[in-house]
Amino acid sequence: MAGVRLENITKHYIPPVGTPDSHPISGLMDISLSIADGETVSVVGPSGCGKSTLLKVIAGLEFADEGRILYNHVDVTRMAPQARGVGMVFQDYALYPSKEGEDNLGYYFEVRKKTPEEKERRLRETAEMMGIGFELLMDRKVDTLSGGEKQRVGIARCIVREPNVFLMDEPISNLDAKLRESTRTEIKKLLKKFGITTLYVTHDQQEAIFMGDRIAVMRLGRLEQIGTFDELYYLPANLFVATLIGTPPLNVLAAEVRGGQLVVGGVTLPLPGELVEGLPAGALRLGVRPEGWQVDPQPGSGIVMQITRVERLYTERAAFASGQVGGVNVNVLVPLDFPESLKTIGLQPDWTQAYFFGAAGEEALRTPGVPELF
Ligand code: ADP
Ligand code: MG
Repeated sequence: MAGVRLENITKHYIPPVGTPDSHPISGLMDISLSIADGETVSVVGPSGCGKSTLLKVIAGLEFADEGRILYNHVDVTRMAPQARGVGMVFQDYALYPSKEGEDNLGYYFEVRKKTPEEKERRLRETAEMMGIGFELLMDRKVDTLSGGEKQRVGIARCIVREPNVFLMDEPISNLDAKLRESTRTEIKKLLKKFGITTLYVTHDQQEAIFMGDRIAVMRLGRLEQIGTFDELYYLPANLFVATLIGTPPLNVLAAEVRGGQLVVGGVTLPLPGELVEGLPAGALRLGVRPEGWQVDPQPGSGIVMQITRVERLYTERAAFASGQVGGVNVNVLVPLDFPESLKTIGLQPDWTQAYFFGAAGEEALRTPGVPELF
């Protein structure tokens, strides 16, 4: 296994002729990041932000124009993929259709001079954890397998080879929801059991949180932020990260700091002292998560919200009330027994949970910080 380090990686793609200038900047822009030995980092971001390009550059399938890539302090920037010892699994992973498992894996074990006992033990262990049956891993021609089996076999064969680095690009997004859930649990177990350093690309936030020790958020070829879920949730670097992480997303309202008070949603609310000191006077944006509101059944002095919809999540024992504030959709966490008859509520931000951003810029001016549990 190996830790991976990217230093100022930049990759320019020449856009195909006829690509409009408005097309997002492609490739990778000055990406630096370190992945510890045995760590799993999830990569999330909108389609076209460079997730697959990042994996290809780490694997050596594409070369960076600038910057360095190190595996355990060894510079692999110009090394061919085979020399790097990477395992890759893609969404549309197609195993060589007529190759049998035994051929591929036999070669691997021969090179490593493993005893037949070691070989069999390792294969059985992996097959069992992936729930695919030893025979599938070894013998059957892959073109007779179902999509789900193919993907599991592909992942298991990759893991069994003990790659230095494991790169997975939306590996299970083609599977149905139920199979996806069980497969991701098995993948995670295997990665931790064998201590494999992994980059895991997904567009699914829940999957990213589940798989990653840390999550890297990308946009337009740039790394916006990397951190644990709590760090991204409570300490987002900017509005993009703040609104990407969390469901329903952070509510963002135009506001103004004026004379130690906050003008927002048609009301003027007194600000606590430390916020008055920390925030610039004038226009800015307030962010409040669905759970960050104090809800008053009588609007009183709070922001008035007309409720348009209540979504009840019975298994979570909670509900979300949605409505509009100044033309912006706002979601508020309420108790499951929130009365159906209530059509108007008053909202006050819990200031300890409030986020602030500039009126125009994206950078966070103030975030709640990760709460201390004990
Ligand atoms: P993601 O995996 O996040 O959806 P990609 O890494 O596939 O994004 O693509 C990032 C950007 O680079 C996109 O704008 C895409 O159009 C562009 N791109 C990807 N591969 C090439 C290529 N071979 N030539 C030119 N542009 C490319
Ligand atoms: Mg992709």
